[in-house]
Amino acid sequence: MFTPDDAKPDGCQEASLFNPIPDVYLPCNQPAVRRVYHSREDRTYRMCAPCADHNITRRGAEDRGPYIQPDDENAPEEPYHGG
Ligand SMILES: [Zn+2]
Repeated sequence: MFTPDDAKPDGCQEASLFNPIPDVYLPCNQPAVRRVYHSREDRTYRMCAPCADHNITRRGAEDRGPYIQPDDENAPEEPYHGG
């Protein structure tokens, strides 16, 4: 069994919307952009934009602001192609 802690580092921890197996948790794993708090679990998750939006608007979760990926500080605007 997977748990939200099995999501990739900086990957969305919400259950995948494309999970083919009901009742088995698979992390979404898209790049996380927001921190979302669920009072039911008393836990803050990192989520991609569509999952954050779904949880905040449909499931009563709280938006706790942007999730900053640890390596974003030095990331270039565009992928570096050399030359
Ligand atoms: Zn997601």
